[in-house]
This record gives sequence, structure tokens and C-alpha cells, in this order.
Amino acid sequence: MTYTVHISRRGAKRLTDGHVWVYRSDISAHAIPPGALVSVADDRGKRLGTALYSSSSQIAIRMLGKEPVTDLPALLRERIGAALAYREGLVESTDAYRLVFSEADFLPGLIADKYNDIVSFQILTQAIDAEAARAAIVSRFEESLKPKSIVERVDPRVRELEQLPPRASGLLAGETSKTVFTMNGVRFHFDALEGQKTGAFLDQRENYAAAARCARGDALDVFCYQGGFALHLAKAGARVTGVDSSRPALEVADQNAALNGREIEWIEGNAFDLLKDYAAAGRQYDTIVLDPPAFAKSRTHLATALRGYKELNLRALKMLPPGGRLVTCSCSFHVNEADFLAIVAEAARDAHRAVRVVERRGQAKDHPVLLTVPETNYLKCLILAVS
Ligand code: SAH
Repeated sequence: MTYTVHISRRGAKRLTDGHVWVYRSDISAHAIPPGALVSVADDRGKRLGTALYSSSSQIAIRMLGKEPVTDLPALLRERIGAALAYREGLVESTDAYRLVFSEADFLPGLIADKYNDIVSFQILTQAIDAEAARAAIVSRFEESLKPKSIVERVDPRVRELEQLPPRASGLLAGETSKTVFTMNGVRFHFDALEGQKTGAFLDQRENYAAAARCARGDALDVFCYQGGFALHLAKAGARVTGVDSSRPALEVADQNAALNGREIEWIEGNAFDLLKDYAAAGRQYDTIVLDPPAFAKSRTHLATALRGYKELNLRALKMLPPGGRLVTCSCSFHVNEADFLAIVAEAARDAHRAVRVVERRGQAKDHPVLLTVPETNYLKCLILAVS
């Protein structure tokens, strides 16, 4: 049975503008089961396409396309195949990359990553959580990639928001969640059942390589997690210190350094305090990387987030001598590139430094940006030269 959801004029406008979400306030839906495949129509009954319905999320509708869809598992299989094909020739110098990036791969609610011989995926919506959908996902990855293991990573907060029953992260195929992956010639330990997000920060892969190209002298990697930037800077010949507040992350970072035969100093601490102390003590670095967590998880946190970015960048700029390089990142979607450039410009002014933009970068190509869905465009990475 096909259900129909009627959407308001505002909701329809969003879709004709190219977005794929319709919010609950813009729909009228009666007795539609959670996760149903629905037909979407405007307020005059004109059919607009097919979507996945969520009974609990504020994002009630996620469009699959204009065509009717009857067999969701078959569509998932087809679109996973297309996502894999999209990455052929686009993703280089790595055996770890994102395989499926949700809306940006026309698979709303599915994220999947490959770490060498392990596939890890995460389900974010009711529709994709259905048994038949899961089976299609697992079998499609098995067929194409023949991974040693397939791991499902569960975000308990997402399941709660989607009103899905609790579920533990775990192995769906294979016996181990551990492997070693290699990107840009740097090796990393990986455990699909540990760590943050879906594991490593694959979206920074191309920025790691860019940071390595500009690395020199003494380098400081602030918010280093398991050493992504730090290891790349060390490979480029810099003397590196990495800072993070998470001891477990630094333990893996240290194992990663050993795996690559590098000596890196790791400091456990609060980055804000450390930068303040180091700047006050007149310490200098030739290369500094700032890659903080998303400060603005929602628009209401924008002002606080901007203050955070300003403070970090100001302190870092003060510690860079002429010729120094700052690699500064923001993964907050709510802080767009223009906001970020403006706040770093303020920091440069306050630090009395002339700063040139060497590169304006974003997320790696395996995290595609779908032009009409701004939420898919979230990572900013500026490479700056200090005079
Ligand atoms: N640069 C990393 C990713 C950083 S993610 C990479 O490329 O892999 C953000 C990191 O900031 C996390 O590791 C988290 O532990 C750390 N963190 C969060 N708040 C912090 C703080 N106040 N001081 C230091 N580290 C912090």
C-alpha cells in the first residue's frame, strides 16, 4: 500500500528549489507508519515524487526522487552501486574513504565508510533501519568490496530521536573490528567499534596532504585526536607536538606514531588553556593546525562558536613568526565559509599580522557536496601564510 503525504506550498517550494527535506510543520500526514515509503503531493494533489517518512524527526520527509519507488531494498542496492562508481578515479592515495554520504549520494539516512578491509556503516532514519533494507546494504557491500568485516556503528542519540529501539554497535559479518589503513602513505590503527563518529576523520584526507605540503620547522597540531594532521606533518619533516583533551585518542595517536616510525610529543590538555599559556610565554611555531570539534551544533550556538574560533585563531596567529603557516578548520555547518573567513580576518587584525590565503579548501571528494542541499557542505579548511 502506498501512502501519500501532502505538503504545504512552502514545503513544495523547498523541493522545487532542489532541497530534499520537508519539515514536519510543512506536511499533513495521517496514520502513516514510521519509516514508510511515501508518495509526496503538493496542496493541490500534484505528485512531486517519492520519499522516506519519519514519524518522529522534525525532518519528516526525505526525498528519494521524482519517480515512483516500490522496492526500497532494490533501490538501495542500485544507489550504493552508483555511490561506489562515483568514487572510482576520484579517490586516490588511500584505502580508507567514505563510500556513501547520505543525501549527497541520494541515500538519505545511510553513511558508510571503508577502512582498508572493513566496511563500517551507520543508519540514521527509520526507513533504512528496516530488516530488508539492512540486508540489502550488507549484501551489496559484500558483493562489491568483499570486506573482511562489516560493522554497524550505532549513535544512540540518533536512534532515540528517530524513536528506534536501542541497538548495540557490532559486527554484522566477519570476526574482527580491527585493521590498519593507509592514506597518503601514512598508516593508522583502526578499531571500528572504538573512537568517535564513524571512526577516523576521513573528510580531512586531502587537507592532511595539503598541510603536509606547507609544513615546516616546529609544528603544533591542536585538537589532534588520533594524530591525523600530526603524522602527516611529521612525514613532511616537521618536529611535531599534538594536543588533545582525550587520553584514549592520544593513546591511539602514540601507537600510530610508532607504526610510522615517528617521534611526536603528545600533550593531554585543554587547547584553549594551552594556547593561552603558550602565547603568553612567547612560544613560537612555524606551522600550526587548528581542527576543533563543531562548536555550533545548531544556529543558536553561532555567536559562542564564532567567539571560540576567534580566540583559537588569534592565539595561534600570535605564535606564528613571519613565514609561518596556519591550517585552520571549521566543521560547523552553521558557520559558513564567509563567516569563517571574516572571523579569522578579525583574529589577524587583533594579532597585528598580515595574513594571506594560500588555499581555501573543503571536505575530501568522497564526501560530495550536493549543491542544492547546503547541509552537505560543512567542512572549511584555510591554509594561511603569516607575514
Ligand atoms: N584533527 C583530528 C580531528 C579532531 S576532532 C583529525 O584529523 O583526526 C576534535 C578533537 O578535539 C577530538 O579529538 C576531541 O577530543 C578534541 N577536543 C574537544 N575539546 C577539546 C578541548 N577543549 N581541548 C583539547 N581538545 C579538545
